[in-house]
Amino acid sequence: MYSSALKVLKKIEEYGYKAYIIGGFPRDLYLKRSSIDVDICTDATPMEIMSIFEDVITTNTEYGSVIVMYDKVNFEITTFRSEGKYINNRKPTDIKYIDSLEEDLKRRDFTINTLCIDKDGNEIDLLNAKSDLDNRIIRMIGNPKIRLKEDALRILRAVRFATVLNFELEPVLKAYIKKYAPLVKKLSKERKRDELDIIFASPNKEYGIKLLCDLKLADNLDIPKLKKIKITPSLMVTWAQLDALDKYNFSTNEKETISSLLVLKGKNLLDKYTLYKYGLYVCDLASELYGIDRHKINKLYSSLQIHSKLDIALSPMDICELLNKEPGPFLKDLIRDLEKKLVNDELQNTKESLTAYITNNYN
Ligand code: ATP
Ligand code: MG
Repeated sequence: MYSSALKVLKKIEEYGYKAYIIGGFPRDLYLKRSSIDVDICTDATPMEIMSIFEDVITTNTEYGSVIVMYDKVNFEITTFRSEGKYINNRKPTDIKYIDSLEEDLKRRDFTINTLCIDKDGNEIDLLNAKSDLDNRIIRMIGNPKIRLKEDALRILRAVRFATVLNFELEPVLKAYIKKYAPLVKKLSKERKRDELDIIFASPNKEYGIKLLCDLKLADNLDIPKLKKIKITPSLMVTWAQLDALDKYNFSTNEKETISSLLVLKGKNLLDKYTLYKYGLYVCDLASELYGIDRHKINKLYSSLQIHSKLDIALSPMDICELLNKEPGPFLKDLIRDLEKKLVNDELQNTKESLTAYITNNYN
């Protein structure tokens, strides 16, 4: 990814423009952490970038950025810009392309996100990113009072970076986050969930959750229960405790997992049929939430004769043939009966044993 990024910078420079890696990648590289994406900034306009590269997948030219695929890697390439007035505490009304890197850095969020790398791999540190990275501080560029009001997403990004990197929030920034916490109400559910997911998935989530509570964000994000949850590693276990199903968007799978986790409260997770019915994934999560020994659950689960209907030694067709019947509603009850008996080891999962059982009981 890194060597491809440098090739992209070289290519842009061959056309006479400036280009640097910016944001998360240089920050994470400096901290010896892995990065998921590479952001590039340049004085070339989106149109100019589109004419340099063949594989331009998505264009977001309205905001001055283009996604280019190079060596099978996606790079988000953003033109140096300054921003006009902000509306709705989120988006600038207009942007202006500029040719100064330093001016572009000043419209960004935190100093730690302004370290750049040039085409030869040299660091360029115009706003003292490295000093804050060394001191483990999240510091807003410019006045937090203005910058947080401009774009309330920065409130959550600040807490997210503090959590993931285990950094302190610079005191003035922290004070204004608390003061402007109600502004997060205006953010879209999706943006809020994206940031919360990163915080809740972090191994350092306990710190992040404490920040969200102390800085009045839990209430303003409509998740007041955050103050009293059990902190466990899994993302969905955290969400399950927040009563958030009607406040945030969840996929069908996520909704099912959360509902199952709630239903399992008070149920015996070491009951074989419960384990079979809800599956290992959900029961594992439930063991986290309700404090059951995970190894016991795993061991019991692997001891089950069947893990799904498909594991039953006789197929529905076999059963119909055996009973000389057309498929019909009777099958559902019969199979449910087999599942229960097999899971509880009251039957052996072999063709012979099942055939004998069905012949004796269903003929
Ligand atoms: P990640 O590791 O999540 O990719 P990142 O810092 O690269 O972290 P991106 O969302 O990829 O974050 O954004 C790239 C860069 O754009 C940031 O480093 C920052 O300089 C700037 N940026 C992103 N969002 C904002 C914002 N809301 N306000 C100001 N600058 C921003
Ligand atoms: Mg990034």
